[in-house]
Amino acid sequence: MNEGINNSGTVGFWRNWGTKRLSESATASPSLDSMLLLAFALETSKNNLFVHDSDVVPELKANTFKEFIERRLKGEPVAYITEQKAFWKHDFYVNHSVLIPKPDTEILVEKAVQILKQKKEKKELCIADVCTGSGCIAVSVYSELIHFLPAEEYDIQFFATDISDKALSVAKKNADSILGSGYKINFLKGDLLEPILRTGLQFDLIMSNPPYVPSKIVSELLQDGRNEPELALDGGEDGLKLIRQMIPQVWNALAKNGILLVETGEYNADETRNLLKKRGFVNILTYTDLGGQQRLTIAEKV
Ligand code: GLN
Repeated sequence: MNEGINNSGTVGFWRNWGTKRLSESATASPSLDSMLLLAFALETSKNNLFVHDSDVVPELKANTFKEFIERRLKGEPVAYITEQKAFWKHDFYVNHSVLIPKPDTEILVEKAVQILKQKKEKKELCIADVCTGSGCIAVSVYSELIHFLPAEEYDIQFFATDISDKALSVAKKNADSILGSGYKINFLKGDLLEPILRTGLQFDLIMSNPPYVPSKIVSELLQDGRNEPELALDGGEDGLKLIRQMIPQVWNALAKNGILLVETGEYNADETRNLLKKRGFVNILTYTDLGGQQRLTIAEKV
């Protein structure tokens, strides 16, 4: 089917060609995917493509683009091909060691920022992001709080943990490139809250997007070539294995009036609320994501 393709086609030609190729697959956004992959092959931004619509694409770059399209056709997510994903207000570096940041998780950042604004009367705050992965939650929340909790006035201790060394180095890379030098996030390796419990500190805010997908669904999800790390998704039979382990740890780590924000599946949000209630948490609320699914549960220890 590639016969007759003019390899010295223009940007516009290749953009449309990619869209057409991807429309033959299950891709939900063929036009956007084609643009992102073409921009990446041309080492430019998506918006720049239109300005250069009638420029001729050199053959080498056209070949690179065609390879990207083939990978996408096999199910590989655009973000793993381009090694980046926009989340909240920044572009995050990603590789196969971390989950791709999803728009579903932005509600967690939004609520964490709102809660921190309400805690402004406290001059010392301890904050943690558990199972940080790419660091998208920690880095996004940190990038916001420096504006309303200035370092001259506030003593902020900020931690981000993960069990995977490879994930932690991705998170650090993102903190370095997005926050620049001088940021204070302590990246700690360990299982769930273990590393922050070791600090002996009492936390005001604990955030987490832990693995919460039931094992059966994980294998279905990954069948389409999505190829995200199983370790970051698999939450055991009902998806709640790690959340169950985490709840007593969170209870011990939180200060009085400390708050937990945890992402779950729409299918296990109800049970998450039950588990939190049983442990003694109050003011338990679940928020829906942009797709209208129960995604974020917030609970308070009083
Ligand atoms: N809904 C998320 C995804 O599909 C699952 C993330 C998780 O298990 N924490 O990527």
